[in-house]
Amino acid sequence: MSGNASRRNAIEGIASLTTPPVSFDPTKETVEDIYGSNVFSLDKIQKTLPKSVFKSLKNVIENGGELDETVADVVASAMKDWAIAKGATHYAHVFYPLTGLTAEKHDSFYEPQGSKTLAVFTGKALVQGEPDASSFPSGGLRATFEARGYTIWDVTSPAYIIEGVNGATLCIPTAFVSWKKEALDKKTPLLKSMQSLHKQAARLLKYFGVTDPGFLAATAGPEQEYFLVDSRLYHLRPDLYTCGRTVFGAKPARGQEFEDQYFGTIPDRVLAFMSEVEHEAFKLGIPLKTRHNEVAPGQYEVAPIFETANVAHDHQQLVMILLKKIARKYGLVALLAEKPFAGVNGSGKHLNWSLGSPKVGNLLDPGEEPHKNLQFLTFAAAVIRAVDIHQGVLRAFVASAGNDHRLGANEAPPAIISIYLGEQLGGVFDQLKASGKATTSKKGGIFDPNVPTLPEILRDAGDRNRTSPFAFTGNKFEFRAVGSAFSIAGPLFLLNTIVADSIQFIAEFLDKETKGDPKKLEPALQKLFKELLAKHGRIIFNGNGYGDDWQEEAAKRGLLNLKGTPESLPQVTAKSTVDAFKRQGVLSKEELESREELSYESYVHSIRSESKLTLEIGRTQIYPAAVRYITELKAAGLDGAILEKVTSLATALVPALEDLDTQREILKAGANAKKNAEFGYTKVIPAMDKVREIADSLEELVADDLWPLPSYQELLYLR
Ligand code: ADP
Ligand code: MG
Repeated sequence: MSGNASRRNAIEGIASLTTPPVSFDPTKETVEDIYGSNVFSLDKIQKTLPKSVFKSLKNVIENGGELDETVADVVASAMKDWAIAKGATHYAHVFYPLTGLTAEKHDSFYEPQGSKTLAVFTGKALVQGEPDASSFPSGGLRATFEARGYTIWDVTSPAYIIEGVNGATLCIPTAFVSWKKEALDKKTPLLKSMQSLHKQAARLLKYFGVTDPGFLAATAGPEQEYFLVDSRLYHLRPDLYTCGRTVFGAKPARGQEFEDQYFGTIPDRVLAFMSEVEHEAFKLGIPLKTRHNEVAPGQYEVAPIFETANVAHDHQQLVMILLKKIARKYGLVALLAEKPFAGVNGSGKHLNWSLGSPKVGNLLDPGEEPHKNLQFLTFAAAVIRAVDIHQGVLRAFVASAGNDHRLGANEAPPAIISIYLGEQLGGVFDQLKASGKATTSKKGGIFDPNVPTLPEILRDAGDRNRTSPFAFTGNKFEFRAVGSAFSIAGPLFLLNTIVADSIQFIAEFLDKETKGDPKKLEPALQKLFKELLAKHGRIIFNGNGYGDDWQEEAAKRGLLNLKGTPESLPQVTAKSTVDAFKRQGVLSKEELESREELSYESYVHSIRSESKLTLEIGRTQIYPAAVRYITELKAAGLDGAILEKVTSLATALVPALEDLDTQREILKAGANAKKNAEFGYTKVIPAMDKVREIADSLEELVADDLWPLPSYQELLYLR
């Protein structure tokens, strides 16, 4: 069947869609009934374990330390009984290697006992696993013969069950470390960074009279954006199913300019899909809260209520898996890539971040009168200082081939890292910058909508700014530059580490200035605010981040504008980064180097596969389609503008493809990942862009029934 007939078939299939499949009855299985039913949570553990065992487990969860072997045995046995009753036959240590994906190694509970088989699960098997680590990337940390890597149960993240069609699996979240104790994953530094942040924050809180704050945890609420396309059309696009994004495609007649998609009515099939994602997430105790249409056609968002960073991370990884898995049931494919389609908005993963504890609350909550809240202002100042010093590595930690299409590519947010404080807090920090003291805060107050039938409402003290990569949003910071396909672990442990380091700096400054005299705290803080803002206030920007004037202004302020991945990655091992990670005991220089190396490698892998597809599709699908059309026009005895245009584009396509081939050969021959990445950025991508430009023009001319690929129109609008 020719490509065009396949397209027609796919479209007919979509057009004849009826009601989406019904998976559950929400009146019989209410959210309350199912919430957390597949999680071996603390309250379930408490019910099954002897009191003393439970107490020692809870103690490790809340205060750290190692689990006693006999305790582990009892916990494992209870966990196994619970899991088997829920249909589990296997257990899996789930870990988070440097690929950013989730990895799992399954083992059966069952072991032969004579002629029978018996379910066994020891404390050792629960706490520690040993997958063959040699096939996971380590960025040169480890030679392949040193394959030993251990997965170690992270007791702070509960075990859960994943149901499959023919049986369930007990999943145990773990950290993954090498025999030499180097982190081979994203969870290990995340856990370490949370400890450092707690330690430094607790130290600083003493200045504000808080001596027993409990565990001060980083908190995270990630907003996931994604696209949905029909699975039939998806499978007619080799670029989508191998690279997750289109490398060809002319602009559709209707883009997002109508602004009718954002918060629009959710289509039936999509809503059914979302409901099932939520249903499965609720069973896993993932507190999904928000669902809505996003700006681009075919784009959506899902967001949970925030949780402790570590748990939020594990849950976010699960949400990405659920989105992909469940979409299939509805004949859809969830695209998590940052820029699946040129010309319409890309997808991000806004990462909301704060810190606090049940005892002291949210440390980034300014309260009613921020100017009087010295504790809050001190913590906010720590964030400002951290983001200014580490602006480069913040950019580097969200760098990837996919995210380059958003950051620094005329799209939100810009590659320049800056902080938006909003009117109220911005006003307070202006005062602090001028004199170290603030005497007023702008009020939110009552808002009268001026419609007689509507009630008055409370108005926020500041408006929103959607163009800032790092924004204060009332009681948390929102890191908006994170890409939709990213694991949030990297951005999280980076934020935790740099803010912990900044808090340490402030605590040491106060130690020096006050010498233990509480009466000297206020003047010491005044001095701190003035000095800190004189030096780091440049990172605060409350204007439009998309404008060209900001590029100029930022350059004047000396802010970095690292456009592409290769340009930003050296920041991972910049001295300021290495020093902060070392001081906070989160990652060593070698571990950072390995991560930088790996990012170059994965960048080059992306460029390699995307450019290969561009070449293949260009040569074997697009060029032939153009030639066929030229032949048809000529056979009909036609000449004139269309024939001329198609001929000239087809003629130009050949050398463009040849050039891409040549650049790819040079890239293939290169041995150094960093140089390859730079070459990919400066040579291969422009060669791909050139091919695409010609091909997209051809798409607008060649007879539709000869065109091999589903169009943007079809991909974005058929649902
Ligand atoms: P937005 O401000 O983006 O419109 P919300 O205010 O609802 O939306 O919050 C977005 C995300 O921020 C949600 O996941 C929410 O749970 C999370 N969030 C709220 N408070 C905190 C906090 N203290 N720490 C981390 N995330 C938070
Ligand atoms: Mg938001």
